[in-house]
Amino acid sequence: MTAILHVGPEERGQLWQAEFRHALPAVEFRNWPEIGNPADIRYLVAWQLTDALIASLPALEVLFSIGAGVDQLDLSRLPDHVRIVRMIEPGITTTMAQYVATAALALHRDLPFYREAQSRGEWTQLPTLLCEERSVGVMGLGELGRASLRMLAPLGFRLRGWNRSPRAIEGVECFSGAEALDAFLAGTDILVCLLPLTDDTRGILSAELFAKLPHGARLINAARGGHLIEEDLTAALQSGQISAAMLDVTQVEPLPRDHPFRSDPRVVITPHIAGVTRIETAVHSLIENVRGHLADSPLRGEVDRGRGY
Ligand code: NAP
Repeated sequence: MTAILHVGPEERGQLWQAEFRHALPAVEFRNWPEIGNPADIRYLVAWQLTDALIASLPALEVLFSIGAGVDQLDLSRLPDHVRIVRMIEPGITTTMAQYVATAALALHRDLPFYREAQSRGEWTQLPTLLCEERSVGVMGLGELGRASLRMLAPLGFRLRGWNRSPRAIEGVECFSGAEALDAFLAGTDILVCLLPLTDDTRGILSAELFAKLPHGARLINAARGGHLIEEDLTAALQSGQISAAMLDVTQVEPLPRDHPFRSDPRVVITPHIAGVTRIETAVHSLIENVRGHLADSPLRGEVDRGRGY
């Protein structure tokens, strides 16, 4: 018997159990805590891990993350032979691309400024630029960075991208490696962070980085709160180096009520809703991956444990 154990909300567990029964009956879908015979469980699908959970699964081969990132998982808890897979599914990709396009247009058309003007009862018109007169630069040209650039393309922005390894994307000026970061930043008016959170990228959105952007640049962070040094953004907003920001993620979530971002009209906060795993579509990605693993095919979205993403 081969089984997959799901740890998470009951509604999702029931829906996914029914889908597995229909599409992949060879793998029994079990919902925690009803794990049955632990020796059957080769697959685990979860958002977070506990030592007790891992210790209870001696036959575990693959851990599937519910989300696109794996930084929420303490990978050191897992035995070395367990493979880790992040979620790649159309729901996350589409909603993230929509978020980035919405945020880019909102910042391009000065929405934070007009919201503040509205709250003060003012009627002030700023000069309007065309999209062609602004550049959007995406850090991280993975699944979500590339999808976001595809959604931005028809709007007319000048598009740029920065990545660890070289990438070629039609219509996008691509930069790669630490040595190209300054050149990328120097020509980026709206900066979008879609990097994974790793030891290399933690705190990358810092005063040092902001100083390399054109004065008055705008920031979108849809990756992880750990990418941004929040005090540095507050200082950059005060100096005008950054003119506005849209943040989907923060160091502490939910963002504390007394956090300076809450009362700063230049900062638009959303509660970590940029890219949302849709249970109706994610289950099909999961089933395809489990089916592929049973057939010795590569796992889509497998994480390199050494790189951390
Ligand atoms: P991905 O496919 O793994 O792509 C990550 C990209 O970042 C890769 O192209 C990688 O380069 C690049 N990269 C990694 N480290 C780098 C570094 N040090 N310098 C420059 N580039 C680097 O990941 P994804 O699916 O696009 O997701 C990206 C992140 O979005 C996730 O890790 C997660 O944190 C975040 N996310 C947020 C939400 C939300 O709702 N806010 C939802 C989903 C995901 P290579 O091509 O060289 O590997």
